[in-house]
Amino acid sequence: MSGIGKGIITASIGRLFKNRQYEVTAVKIDPYINIDAGTMNPTQHGEVFVLSDGTEVDLDLGNYERFLDINLTSAHNITTGKVYQAVIEKERKGNFLGETVQIIPHITNQIKEYIKEAAKKEIELGKTADICLIEIGGTVGDIESMPFLETIRQMHSELSPNDMAIVHVTLVPTDNMGEHKTKPSQHSVKTVRELGLQPDIIVCRSDWVIGTNTKKKISSFCDVPQHAIISAVTVSDIYHVPMEMEKEGLGNILCNLLNIKKRKPNTKWYRLVNKEYTDHITIAIMSKYGTEDVHISIKEALKHSARALSTKITIKWLDVENYDENELAKVDGILIPGGFGRRGIEGKLHAIQHARIHGKPFLGLCLGFQLAVIEFSRNVLNWNDATSEEIGPGTHVIALLPEQETVTTFGGTMRLGNCTISLKPETLVNRLYEKTTIVERHRHRYEVNPDYINKLEQAGLTFSGSCGNRMEVCELPNHPFFLATQFHPELTSRPTQPSPPFLGFANACKKHKPSHGNR
Ligand code: GLN
Repeated sequence: MSGIGKGIITASIGRLFKNRQYEVTAVKIDPYINIDAGTMNPTQHGEVFVLSDGTEVDLDLGNYERFLDINLTSAHNITTGKVYQAVIEKERKGNFLGETVQIIPHITNQIKEYIKEAAKKEIELGKTADICLIEIGGTVGDIESMPFLETIRQMHSELSPNDMAIVHVTLVPTDNMGEHKTKPSQHSVKTVRELGLQPDIIVCRSDWVIGTNTKKKISSFCDVPQHAIISAVTVSDIYHVPMEMEKEGLGNILCNLLNIKKRKPNTKWYRLVNKEYTDHITIAIMSKYGTEDVHISIKEALKHSARALSTKITIKWLDVENYDENELAKVDGILIPGGFGRRGIEGKLHAIQHARIHGKPFLGLCLGFQLAVIEFSRNVLNWNDATSEEIGPGTHVIALLPEQETVTTFGGTMRLGNCTISLKPETLVNRLYEKTTIVERHRHRYEVNPDYINKLEQAGLTFSGSCGNRMEVCELPNHPFFLATQFHPELTSRPTQPSPPFLGFANACKKHKPSHGNR
């Protein structure tokens, strides 16, 4: 079922193969009818992740990219909407003339075609994957996921036995006595078997280690060998999951099932995610969404920097509409994430002002960048009605550029995906990236209004990164660390390669920590 960590298990399985020098790619199947996650409310499904090609997808693809260190594309996210759209388009073009177009074989063939296309896609120039992971979202038995499971069944019988392994993830709850209950696993396996699929491996999610007796029971009821019943315990850090899976023997079991060389796993990942902390900082994230999943990539990017700096980062989530000024004084840095709409804007502006005046490290992302420009306009240039066109009437220092206004389809004005950005030499951002050209990802509509750029710069706000006439980075040269980006650096941060703005920000928080007496 959703929310038990299938995405992390999938990504971790990929990591086990990567650690054995296999190239891996991954496809996420979302059985909803939306074409993509772009128009979905983040409080329901969590963050909308943006791929380099601009596709807006489920946050699981972010986990795949982070765990597998690969860049995925729209081909790697299949939704019911996409499949039906493709089949209906083909039908209208006359591709199936004379036929009755049906779920089997037309929809299932389309799903197969999409899966194969994604599996064959280059993961790097000239390099394709050895193994493709396919994660089917939702719950077994749900009406939405039926065509996808049927497709897997067909593929399984079409391929040679060692070409596909089926992993079933189930929840193993405990009762009041702390005893594991195996019924939900028995029933879900029964449901998959009714659909013609037999799991090769069962991954059991639980807060407590699954003991031998429970494994034995699940094994006998579900016809899966006991060594392939895997205990997947909740851990404090998702990056530890691959290690836990390795301890359970999952890597070698999978290699046997796929009949590929076991190869000794490389331990670099484990060393990286196990690095000890020798220091500690607290960072405030100002959010209005009330759920941490909306900002999952930011949380992960902070973790990547934390490991790199051996500094534990505690996040203090502050509700933008209801926080105490004292809380800002206590934290070591303030981060304003992206967002849409007007709610909570004043609270965010106030926090930026606090950071600017008190020399507190500040990192603004997307909306956070736009608000840094608005705060500076209002409180340094005294343009008291400075605002964004998105927020309401006033002096629009942030506005829709004329070339965007002509697009009318939903989401059409949004800038999405990769953009090449030039960085001004000898600025903070240039020192952080150690480059003058970078590629980062976008997800926004509004831009700094070109009419005000000169005045803002003359008053001391440096626009240190740009993409043509669009401003991408701003900073304050006389501040310990005041940096904001129109792009989303959190989307490209990886455990193996922490994002430079995050690393710089965390480092600055560490250096400028208020003395312990103030805490
Ligand atoms: N709402 C702003 C815009 O559309 C910022 C978007 C964001 O923060 N992702 O430009």
